[in-house]
Amino acid sequence: MNILLIDDEPFSLKLLQRQLRNAGFDRVFGFEYAREALAALQAEDARPDVIICDLQMPDLDGIEMLRHLAQAQFAGGLVLISGEDERVLQTAQRLAHAHQLHVLGALHKPVEPRRLTRLLEQHSSRVPSRNHNPRPSYDAGQVKRALQQNELINFYQPKVDVGRGTVSGVETLVRWLHPTDGLVGPDQFIATAEENGLIDALTKTVLQQALTQMKSWRETGMNFQVAVNISMDNLVNLEFPDWLADSARDAGVQASSLLLEVTESRLMRNRLLVLDILTRLRLKGISLSIDDFGTGFSSLAQLRDLPFDELKIDQSFVHGAWRDPSLRTFFDGSCNIGRQIGLKIVAEGVEDQSDWQFLREVDCDLAQGYFIARPMPAEQLPDWISDWSRHPN
Ligand code: C2E
Ligand code: CA
Ligand code: CA
Repeated sequence: MNILLIDDEPFSLKLLQRQLRNAGFDRVFGFEYAREALAALQAEDARPDVIICDLQMPDLDGIEMLRHLAQAQFAGGLVLISGEDERVLQTAQRLAHAHQLHVLGALHKPVEPRRLTRLLEQHSSRVPSRNHNPRPSYDAGQVKRALQQNELINFYQPKVDVGRGTVSGVETLVRWLHPTDGLVGPDQFIATAEENGLIDALTKTVLQQALTQMKSWRETGMNFQVAVNISMDNLVNLEFPDWLADSARDAGVQASSLLLEVTESRLMRNRLLVLDILTRLRLKGISLSIDDFGTGFSSLAQLRDLPFDELKIDQSFVHGAWRDPSLRTFFDGSCNIGRQIGLKIVAEGVEDQSDWQFLREVDCDLAQGYFIARPMPAEQLPDWISDWSRHPN
């Protein structure tokens, strides 16, 4: 197993290196400077299986390092170490998860060698030690071709009413049925679409498919609200509200059965334009949801200024909130704010029985997550609904 160790204190670096070697890990590469470690990481042939990273470093701090690792699509294990208090380590760990890095654990300085080697041993028994394939990433040309070839398909994930246990709607989550790579998730192509002027075409494809699907669900008596994710970059086109209202009418779908989930992944460039478009969507009867609340730019200013109906508390504040007091504080705070301005509250990321139980005890309207159902193709939904209504959790 290749281990890359980054610690700006030469003594502590040497000590850890020696301890790891004594424990039988002989390919340990130590770096005092994070930038040098990053450069080594770029060298394709020497991809480490594990990176052990001190959070305090003078040239590039550990949090910046996480961002760079995510950009480099580092797929190995990560161990964080810090001399700071527990909250800093916890926050860094959450951040790493949010970047989809695979965190093996977080350790305090001075590091207890036994705890570190235990983490590494657990990891090496799980993961084949060579060659972590980075996730494929796609360029604009490939995404454009996927759109032209109709390779994007919608999956749907149920949203259920926490109090009654009934299915209140579904969220549309796009997938790319790639001819050679299989099912590719949106995290691997939405950003490319946004950055290359393809997001309008993508959103329209997803919406059209959803509308057609809604029509056929209605014909079999399934009436529920369907949510579609839209990007802030869709909200710069003044024609969008009319296009959507017309398309819904053509499909025989009521505007009120549509909900748009808006995430803000970067700063809004033209607030007035966005406000204009969102308000007109709202006036046409389409509901609006503020997605990923509590993260990125989805914040209080957005809630104050934009006409939302629903607030989705980000999964990072939901899963495990029952046992983590600081998550619980953020969760309760978001609920209270949403309630006070009359919004429906949705919790996403309900991953296990404890999360579900927690939601039943707090003031939350809807829940969504793997514990209830994973996103699925449209044709699986009727069976899932009848199963669920027989045995709701
Ligand atoms: P999102 O809107 O926050 O959607 C929720 C994501 O969490 C989905 O990932 C879903 O599969 C996943 N998820 C659901 N339940 C759980 C759970 O219990 N635990 C965990 N850990 N995850 C859960 P997915 O499908 O990979 O989508 C990722 C993001 O891509 C979405 O995040 C959304 O921002 C974006 N996206 C998806 N479809 C579209 C689209 O049609 N247009 C745009 N603009 N963005 C889209
Ligand atoms: Ca969403
Ligand atoms: Ca989310």
